[in-house]
Amino acid sequence: MTETLVDRRARLMGPNVPTFYQTPVHLVKGEGVWVWDAAGKRYLDCYNNVPHVGHCHPRVVKAICDQAGTLNTHTRYLHEGVLNYIERLTATFSHGISQAIMTCTGSEANDIALRMAQAATGKTGIIATDATYHGNTMAVSQLSTRKPPIGGRWPNVRLVPAPDSLNRPDPDGSIFAGHVAQAVRELDEAGFGCSGILLCPMFANEGLPTLARGWLDKTVAVIRAAGGIVIADEVQPGFGRAGSHFWGHDKLGFAPDVVVMGKPMANGHPVGAVATRPDVMAAFRNAFSYFNTFGGNPVSAAAALAVLDVIRDEGLQENAARVSAHVTARMAALRHPLLRDTRSNGLFFGAEFMLDDGEPATRFCANLVEGMVARGVLMNVIGAGRNILKIRPPLPFSVENADHLMDRLEETLRDTKVTA
Ligand code: PMP
Repeated sequence: MTETLVDRRARLMGPNVPTFYQTPVHLVKGEGVWVWDAAGKRYLDCYNNVPHVGHCHPRVVKAICDQAGTLNTHTRYLHEGVLNYIERLTATFSHGISQAIMTCTGSEANDIALRMAQAATGKTGIIATDATYHGNTMAVSQLSTRKPPIGGRWPNVRLVPAPDSLNRPDPDGSIFAGHVAQAVRELDEAGFGCSGILLCPMFANEGLPTLARGWLDKTVAVIRAAGGIVIADEVQPGFGRAGSHFWGHDKLGFAPDVVVMGKPMANGHPVGAVATRPDVMAAFRNAFSYFNTFGGNPVSAAAALAVLDVIRDEGLQENAARVSAHVTARMAALRHPLLRDTRSNGLFFGAEFMLDDGEPATRFCANLVEGMVARGVLMNVIGAGRNILKIRPPLPFSVENADHLMDRLEETLRDTKVTA
């Protein structure tokens, strides 16, 4: 019998290598917002923020091929590509962030951000939320809550209750700021001090809560009063997805000291970055002798620059805002006995389902996702209870694509049995 790809992965990569869906999907081709599996079935991609400007966008493909055919090398030679890119990238920030370090992943970028916070403040305590993921280095995984770290969480880490606009309303963010203030006190008493807080401005992994502009202001004030810095993890909200703004932090209305980027930056080519003000960068550069062999190499810089060009030239941020309004209206019209809330933030949507006893409808959501995949629509779930649909398509998603998504979702909601 021929070995399945699932078995072959386990044989070659070990157990528990994550895949999505009961029957993992084997994709072989992508174009725009569509992907195809090995059997030729087409799926509407309503999940992936990596192919940000659309799968296999010809301008990004050409930029990669052209540069790969000219020169690619490590990053300790002079090259204009990375400088041109950082100039364009930092021009999108509105509050003094003018320098950046290029990496290959969001995890590395967050790891640097944590070290920037330590170098800039001389303190080592760090705060994040209790239902999130920021990456996989040893330090950053201390802030991730999927599995408890071996040996327990480091004592300089404090995780505060994640915002939850449905189940724990906190309209002006003062409850959250109170938790953060308590964490600061604990870090001070333990002798670590507070070097900063690391947050996604959409709280995307936490469940995409609905938050008013200014919601983080009190928290930012607490961190600044403690002498810490504010790190915005823009891996999910960034690069125009927020619709009204290029960055999630601008939409929420706060000015981070450090911005972390990743996934969508180069449309699938592995590029991340951490950007900050010159004073924080100088503190970091003086404290660590940091270089990254691949980060910002000529091919990566060309791919990332092409993504910025496409977002601008194709009006993708504006598209995100327009299509967001359409999906938001259709989501608000959804009806189902377990549906408790629908929410959106630009081209990112959530729908939360709870059982009658107030427990998260985890199994029901898993079945919904499977029903959508069977109908050729890729999506997934978020939130600590895994009971919030996560809908996050590439930015060229059209109103027609949105109607396809919502029509399939209405059918699937009708057909999916309510089970505990
Ligand atoms: N930050 C956030 C908010 C993420 O969701 C992720 C990955 N899902 C990361 C960081 C890590 O990025 P990477 O996988 O590129 O290391």
